[in-house]
Amino acid sequence: MQADITILGGGPVGATLALLLARAAARPENIVLCRPRRPSVAPATAADPRSMALNHGSRVLLASLGAWPEGGADILDVHVSQRGRLGRTHISHADFGVPALGTVLPYAAIVEALDAALDLSGITIRAGAPAAILRHDGDRAVVRQDDDEWTSTVCVHAEGGTFDHQARNDLHRSYRQHAILAIVRASRPRPGWAWERFTDEGPLALLPYPAGAARDTGRYAMVWCCRPEHAERLASLDDASFAQALGRAFGARLGDFAAAGPRHRYPLGINLRRKVVDGTRVAIGNAAQTLHPVAGQGMNLGLRDAAGLAEALAPLLRNPATPAAPLLAAYARARAADRWVTSGLTDFMPRIFATGLAPIEHACGLALLGLDLSRTVRGPLARQLMEGLR
Ligand SMILES: Cc1cc2nc3c(=O)[nH]c(=O)nc-3n(C[C@H](O)[C@H](O)[C@H](O)COP(=O)(O)OP(=O)(O)OC[C@H]3O[C@@H](n4cnc5c(N)ncnc54)[C@H](O)[C@@H]3O)c2cc1C
Repeated sequence: MQADITILGGGPVGATLALLLARAAARPENIVLCRPRRPSVAPATAADPRSMALNHGSRVLLASLGAWPEGGADILDVHVSQRGRLGRTHISHADFGVPALGTVLPYAAIVEALDAALDLSGITIRAGAPAAILRHDGDRAVVRQDDDEWTSTVCVHAEGGTFDHQARNDLHRSYRQHAILAIVRASRPRPGWAWERFTDEGPLALLPYPAGAARDTGRYAMVWCCRPEHAERLASLDDASFAQALGRAFGARLGDFAAAGPRHRYPLGINLRRKVVDGTRVAIGNAAQTLHPVAGQGMNLGLRDAAGLAEALAPLLRNPATPAAPLLAAYARARAADRWVTSGLTDFMPRIFATGLAPIEHACGLALLGLDLSRTVRGPLARQLMEGLR
């Protein structure tokens, strides 16, 4: 088989790219998406405990592909504060004329909606062992998955992943923080509000969580970033002690907490490729950059990678004889600013609030206060986090 484009990795970013390409391709069957085999009983992703805050731009993109999952919890207002220090800022959807700043969805719901749309797309989906590029045959790559081999004009790395201490890239830094993830319940929930609280160990976020079929309201997806040894202790507490610890760290704004369900732990760091293109190979999403989850940017940025790449590859889809390398080089140039600004923001925020130096932390608190007073600064910051650079 000869493919025009092969995508290695059918996570949210790879799947979105596949759908965008299928829409523009004269022969969608020449686009190959390689993903792991999903178990027949439960979706493979059901075990993934991450909740994703997707911004307005991502929602518009997925909805346009018929892959926007129903039932997400909208974020109308975001409250940002710093524990034990002056300063807070409030960002509201009303300030930007959008129906919501973002929507919280389980990772599994996003993948399932994309999978359903892929089934109708006409592209070639290969499910099996991890796919790999074996070698180059002239200007075409030879790709293998299980016992099948084929050649491809362009190969897209969308294998994703979370921060890995072993994987080295141009910018590789561990924050010496772990994220604890859990679904918690608040006794005085505030519908539509998300909370981001900077502590001296890292940010603590509470995001409104979908009520689900059981109409179970008052739940929050918690992402608590703290030192690894603290995270280990938090993970081993019983539910009641964990809920009390959360109350002490977050404060009394939402009443008392109750822990509902298991806790999961992720090591955090940044792992960024400076060069995302090598000839006719290109990396997008987490394969190109793994970020700190502060402000929920990783998937949003990856979806913008997918949109940018689909646009760049349009001439190849119209005419498979078009040389691919210049198209990919143009893609890399066009995406550079958004990648660096978003990565820079998510790299800066968790470190600056956790310096342990009181004057710096007070200054950050004042900056938050300043942000609250100044629409001119707050607007561009929120817009970058909501839509990225277009
Ligand atoms: C705690 C935490 C909270 C987060 N919260 C948010 C948030 O609120 N908002 C947000 O925008 N982002 C958030 N993120 C980031 C987000 O999870 C990632 O940016 C996003 O999942 C990246 O998508 P992806 O498709 O690039 O990679 P992945 O989601 O990792 O998917 C890659 C897929 O490729 C498959 N694969 C791997 N290797 C191969 C291979 N060789 N062949 C075939 N298939 C392969 C994998 O099995 C997987 O299915 C968070 C991350 C963490 C850790």
